[in-house]
Amino acid sequence: MKKRILSTILVIMVLVATVPLSTTNADIGVTSTNTTTVGDQNAKYIFYFIGDGLGAAQRQLAEYYLQTTTGDSSTKLLMNDLEYSAINTTHSANTLVTDSAAAGTALATGYKTNNGMISVLEDGSPVETLVEKAESIGMATGVATTTRITHATPAVFISHNADRDNESDIAADMLDSGVDYLVGGGVRHFLPQNFVDTQTDVFGSTIKSKRTDDRNLLSEFAALGYTVDYGLSGAENFENYNPKTGDQYVGLFAYSHMPYSIDVENQTEYDVPTLAEITEKGIELLSKDEDGFFFMIEAGRIDHACHPNDAAGTIMDTLALDDAIKEAYTFYEAHPDETLIVVVGDHETGGLGMGVNTDYFMNLQELSKVTVSIEDWMYGDVALEGNLDTIMSDAKTSFGIESFTDSEKAMLQSAITRRDAGIISEGNAYAYNEVAVAMTHIVSEHAGVYWTSFAHTGTQIPLSAIGVGAENYKGFLDNTDIEKITANLLGFDS
Ligand SMILES: [Zn+2]
Repeated sequence: MKKRILSTILVIMVLVATVPLSTTNADIGVTSTNTTTVGDQNAKYIFYFIGDGLGAAQRQLAEYYLQTTTGDSSTKLLMNDLEYSAINTTHSANTLVTDSAAAGTALATGYKTNNGMISVLEDGSPVETLVEKAESIGMATGVATTTRITHATPAVFISHNADRDNESDIAADMLDSGVDYLVGGGVRHFLPQNFVDTQTDVFGSTIKSKRTDDRNLLSEFAALGYTVDYGLSGAENFENYNPKTGDQYVGLFAYSHMPYSIDVENQTEYDVPTLAEITEKGIELLSKDEDGFFFMIEAGRIDHACHPNDAAGTIMDTLALDDAIKEAYTFYEAHPDETLIVVVGDHETGGLGMGVNTDYFMNLQELSKVTVSIEDWMYGDVALEGNLDTIMSDAKTSFGIESFTDSEKAMLQSAITRRDAGIISEGNAYAYNEVAVAMTHIVSEHAGVYWTSFAHTGTQIPLSAIGVGAENYKGFLDNTDIEKITANLLGFDS
C-alpha cells in the first residue's frame, strides 16, 4: 500500500513539475516528462527485447537443448552471453503473481499497476511509456511481436486502457500513437465489423473482424501515410518491402497470434516472417531516422507454449527470440558506441523445472523429435476424438514417442475417459484438452522437464544487456527499475 501511495504521489509531482516540450499523445491524456532534447540521449539506438514468460529456466533449457542437439557443450544463447546482467522481481501492484499487462506496464512506464491494466495507474490515469518518451525527443519507434499486436505486452508501449481485453480500443489507440513500425498478428481488431476477405492469414485462417463498429483502422493508417500490409499477401509484400527514409509501416499477418516457431519450422503451409526477419526489417526502417530509435521486440509465444506446459514449443520460441537478438547484435557491432540492447522477461510461466523426481540428468534430445506445438495438436482430430491406439500411433510422428510404459498408457486412457465425459481435472485452469495435457506431461518427463503450474509464477527474472549504458542494469532490481534506467539513458529523470 505504501508503494502505491508513493507511486501515485510521484506521478502527480512529475505531471505538475514538468513542462512538456512535446505531447505527441495529448489526445490520449498523457503528458510528456521530457527533460532532454534531440541528440542529448546517451543511447541513440535502443533494442528492448521482452520474452513473455521468459524465466531463468526457459533461458537455460533452450541453451542446454542447443548444446545437446549440436553436440557442442560450449554453445551459448546470445542472450545468455551479453556483457551485463541483473535479476528482477515481477510482482504487480495488487498481487505477487503478475499478468503481462501489469508486468509490461512496469517495463514500459516504470510504474506498478494492477493485473489487467495497460499503462494506466490503479486509478485509471495514463502514464507515459518509453515509446512515447522516445517519440517526444524525435526518435523513431518500433513495436513488434509474435502475438496479436493488441495483446498486453505490445499494447503497454503504445496504448492506455484500464482493461487489456478492450483490444479494439487498444488498436484505435495505436493509430494515434505515432509509432513508425508496427508488426505482429491480430488484424481482427483493425477491420470494420462484418468484414470478410477473400485472402487468408498466414495460418490459412479466414480474416474477419472482432470490432463492433465500422472503423477500418488499416485504411486510417494508410490515410496517415503508413504502408500497410496484412494477411498472407501482406506477409509476401513484407518480404519484398524496402523501407525508405521517413517510411512508417504496419504489418499484421495473422487473424490472431502468429504461429509458434515449432509449427513454422515443421508445417510448410505456414508462410510467415520469423521474429528475426521482423527485427531485421525494423532495423532497416528505423535506422533511417538520424535521431535514433527505440525498438521493442516481444517473443510473445514463449508464454503461450508454457501455459499448456509445452517444453519443445517453449524452447523453439526462445531460440527464435535469440535469433532476433542476433539481428540487433549485428547492428550493435556496427554502432557499438551508440547502441544498447536489453533482454528481459515480463514474468515466468509454468513453473518450469529442470529435472524430474530423483533423476540427476535430463534427456533433452527427446524434445528434438517433437514436430508440433501442443496447442496445434490439441485441436486436431486425434487429440479431440482419438482412442488409445490412434493417439499412441500419432505420438510417433508428432512427439517421437515409439512406445509408452504401462503407467503412461493408463495416464492417457484416464485422460481420454475424462475428455469423453467432459471432465476437466483439478488444476487444468484453462480447460485444455485433457489428452493434450497428459501427452505434454509425458513428453516433458521423458526429457527430464517438470511443470508446477498452468499459469504465471512469481520467480525472479534474469535480465541481460550490452552496449551504451548496459552497465547500469545490475544487481537485484524491481521491474520498474528497468524502465527508469532506460528512461535515464534517453535523458529523462525518473
Ligand atoms: Zn501468460
